Amino acid sequence: MSIYLDYSATTPVDPKVFEAMIPYFKEKFANPSSIHTLGRIVREDVDKARATVAKSIGAEPHEIIFTASGTSSDNMAIRSIAEKFAHRGKHIITSVIEHKAVLQTCKYLEKHGYEVTYLPVDKDGLVSVEDFRNAIRKDTILVSIMLVNNEIGTLQPIKEISAIARKNQIIVHTDAVQAMGKMKIDVGELGVDLLTFSGHKICAPKGIGVLYVDENLKDDMVPLIFGGSQEFGLRAGTENVANIIGLAKACEIVMEDVEKEAAYVKGLRDLFENRILTEIPQTYVNGSREKRVCSVTNIAFKFIEAEALMIYAEEICCSTGSACTSESVDASHVLYAIGVDPVDLHGSIRFSFGRFNTEEEVNRAVEMIKTSVEKLRAMSPLV
Ligand SMILES: *Cc1c(COP(=O)(O)O)cnc(C)c1O
Repeated sequence: MSIYLDYSATTPVDPKVFEAMIPYFKEKFANPSSIHTLGRIVREDVDKARATVAKSIGAEPHEIIFTASGTSSDNMAIRSIAEKFAHRGKHIITSVIEHKAVLQTCKYLEKHGYEVTYLPVDKDGLVSVEDFRNAIRKDTILVSIMLVNNEIGTLQPIKEISAIARKNQIIVHTDAVQAMGKMKIDVGELGVDLLTFSGHKICAPKGIGVLYVDENLKDDMVPLIFGGSQEFGLRAGTENVANIIGLAKACEIVMEDVEKEAAYVKGLRDLFENRILTEIPQTYVNGSREKRVCSVTNIAFKFIEAEALMIYAEEICCSTGSACTSESVDASHVLYAIGVDPVDLHGSIRFSFGRFNTEEEVNRAVEMIKTSVEKLRAMSPLV
């Protein structure tokens, strides 16, 4: 029986979410844009879902745009603002440890006349607010910094960054994909103009994302996909109704339980981490152990190839690098940026915990890892 410790890559759909979605594959299949009774019923359900999603991050329903994924939301936020505000300037600030959805969008814009500053991070994975302040130029239009990093879990000082950005009339986007469901999120408190999150990281299905757009900015958004007038004319295409309903249910669960769940998940993460660090010699945690989300630990095992360990402890599902880059032989850009010893880059593994994990699983995983590390080190010429 496998032990799933890869919640940062994706999560299982919560049975309550699945249950809520079923009618939309069956009797409630109508197109919400249809004006017949069935269509109108589904439209009302989508509206209710939008209100629930909005409430879960302290937003208004008309500030929520449903997209196809976290990646689509990141693309839309950055490209839309870049296009609309090009007359004011073509400079964007981001960080070196963003998700590829942000980094690759920035790379694309660089090929089209924009300039991007990639802020460095310290050994904890933190962006410096001072560095941000110093990077601001007259032509800076947008800053995009993630709330929580997906590989090491670092929490960035978004509130402070927003405050400075506001004074300089710079629009703020944050990728909150890894923060949603693990901490309370309030867009007003954060002071951001745009915020991304994704369904499949919070026990809703894959293929649904959210872009929050502050109402003052809404008229400045330009669509990237053209067609019908769905999603306020900003994202054409018939709504993925079942996924929208599922996402709303997941957000409802988050609203009810986020603090309790975060404490539970943190308990499991800490138990795992403490046992590994004390029972397996020559291991350490990559990044900050304090300024970090509750669910992730990224551990370096010295003298070990992470892939080999994953083969030995094959019952454990976890990630080397990040899932999105694990097919490439390149080491993680995040671990590289925080200055992990190059030798240890290939011995680092991300374990991420969630709602359905148990203490028994955690303890079983530790035992398996212990045995596997011992075997591998016994064979290694490096030890
Ligand atoms: C998973 C993830 C994304 C991408 O979301 P998808 O819905 O898989 O496209 C973006 N940013 C971060 C930080 C993520 O962890």
